[in-house]
Amino acid sequence: MTSADLTTAESAGTGTSAVVLPPATPYQDDIARYWNNEARPVNLRLGDVDGLYHHHYGIGDVDHAALGDARDSEYETKLIAELHRLESAQTDVLLDQLGPVGREDTLVDAGCGRGGSMVMAHRRFGCTVEGVTLSAKQADFANLRARELGIGNHVHAQVCNMLDMPFETGLATASWNNESSMYVDLHDLMAEHSRVLSVGGRYVTITGCWNPRYGQPSKWVSQINAHFECNIHSRREYLRAMIDNRLVPQAVIDLTPQTLPYWKLRATTSLVTGIEDAFIKSYEDGSFQYVLIAADRV
Ligand code: SAH
Repeated sequence: MTSADLTTAESAGTGTSAVVLPPATPYQDDIARYWNNEARPVNLRLGDVDGLYHHHYGIGDVDHAALGDARDSEYETKLIAELHRLESAQTDVLLDQLGPVGREDTLVDAGCGRGGSMVMAHRRFGCTVEGVTLSAKQADFANLRARELGIGNHVHAQVCNMLDMPFETGLATASWNNESSMYVDLHDLMAEHSRVLSVGGRYVTITGCWNPRYGQPSKWVSQINAHFECNIHSRREYLRAMIDNRLVPQAVIDLTPQTLPYWKLRATTSLVTGIEDAFIKSYEDGSFQYVLIAADRV
């Protein structure tokens, strides 16, 4: 890479001083464009509830008492708060798996989106969190939010490819992909996590994956791929890519039963995006699973 290949976000008019590496492939360019243009109310209105912006799904039982009566004029506000609560609960389950993290440690959020998980990680551990995303708009959003919260010195996002992260070898105590691993080759991804993690460090992913027991990706999984321009991997591919890259799986948790209530609630709202049915059908027919996999870097 020569300096002529580099552009800065500032010169691209996005207002950050981070160095922006050009996308590695035309596909990554498409994904950067997708996330730069993403402004679905289902994501933004939920984030507005408490300032934690997520681009992932929720888990846990719906609190029907908190929702109250659907005919109530406050119902939609309560419903948005409830969906958001379940999305933050998902991040808590991921953070629970990171193992002991000290204030001096650094964590890496690969595919960090607007940074909700990074803020939650910093609040829990007091540590530094470095995020990467392909989208300059998301990185700017995450950095602005961190500065507004007064934690800009600990939480930082930059625009780069998570297969080639600008972090020194062994930097991270723990790293994760929260619904961002379906955009890349898993062997390349696990090799890069293995490089940035310290020996004894922890890697965690929460992801949708197709179930080898079903046979091949179902039509619902294909619909989800088309909707998000992604490439959902199988559970077997995750485990193989980890094992091949010094990441030894310690826990594989099937979160499918815990995410279904979120999808069923979301399908009833005015915020539907049209993909809810494919998630519900594929989770119910067993072709698709929502899993957490945690692995030790050995
Ligand atoms: N983890 C976040 C966002 C998930 S959305 C959350 O839980 O809210 C998927 C994210 O993956 C987007 O931020 C997108 O930019 C990122 N992504 C996809 N491919 C990537 C790549 N090759 N390098 C870095 N980020 C990538």
